[in-house]
Amino acid sequence: MGFDQFNFDPDICSGICDLGYTAPTPIQEKTIPVILKGGDVLGLAQTGTGKTAAFALPILERLAGSAAKAPRALIMAPTRELAEQIHDNITRLAAHTALESAAVYGGVGKFNQVTAFKRGVDIIVACPGRLLDLMNDGAVSLRDIEVLVLDEADQMLDMGFLPDIRRIISQLPETRQTLVFSATMPDQIRELTRRILNRPRSIRINNDRPAPAIAHSLFFLQKQERTALLRQLLGTRDIGTAIVFTRTKHKAKSLAAQLSRAGYRAAGLQGNMSQQQRKKAMAGFREGVFTVLVATDIAARGIDVSGISHVVNYDLPDT
Ligand code: AMP
Repeated sequence: MGFDQFNFDPDICSGICDLGYTAPTPIQEKTIPVILKGGDVLGLAQTGTGKTAAFALPILERLAGSAAKAPRALIMAPTRELAEQIHDNITRLAAHTALESAAVYGGVGKFNQVTAFKRGVDIIVACPGRLLDLMNDGAVSLRDIEVLVLDEADQMLDMGFLPDIRRIISQLPETRQTLVFSATMPDQIRELTRRILNRPRSIRINNDRPAPAIAHSLFFLQKQERTALLRQLLGTRDIGTAIVFTRTKHKAKSLAAQLSRAGYRAAGLQGNMSQQQRKKAMAGFREGVFTVLVATDIAARGIDVSGISHVVNYDLPDT
């Protein structure tokens, strides 16, 4: 079945068409009807499943009727990159509507974000820290929010955002639609969802098994042997583009530098970099200037880049 089944506004259908989506993904098939009816959703799904459009499309449909230019939907995400990516996806899907979205995150000046609010936006995609900051400045009011989305909730918990999120939620209207997406369901997230969701529909997209087209290799070795093996793999395998995950920011930085010195087109991506540096690394990787991205899993979680041939876990991943 195509997207026709949802009867979206023609302007939204044009956006879907522009992006080349012909049929809904499983999570879209399951969640869109529930969200369109106004229900709360607890989605257990990872990035790559199409979950952004799963919540963005029904939100656009809800808001399209009237462009009030007061924020009516709030989406919270853990990292700047993910906030940018969601904002970008929404902007493309909403290209034929009058709806506007703004991305709000720290590490850059507040001026442009405050100016966007003054001009009037319908949708805010925010990292919790900067949003709270702008709320405290009186630069944004959330009193008209009708829909709240927490994306990658478990990661926001890991990054210590829960107190900020609670403070933000306490400022939202009690009557609203709430959607929570998380790849895992630790106790604290379960507890949070019990308090903020109203009789939610739980939707689980079962991708805890790896995709069949992906081959896995595991190498047992001493810590000090890892860099040499990595270089050997990068040098001998037919590697187009690769992401290498490290556990610490420090390791991501030093390993990227080491690979660059060895002649690889490698860039680091980690939380100690400025927003400008992070943007440059991501853009360079997307455009093929860099073929190896060495990233902490926190900085890179939720990042969607097509055509990656290899993913290397330099450290044994926690999850
Ligand atoms: P997400 O999980 O939201 O990060 O989406 C992963 C990728 O799938 C993004 O590049 C989306 O643009 C793409 N995508 C989302 N929905 C569809 C669809 N129905 N058909 C084709 N691609 C899609």
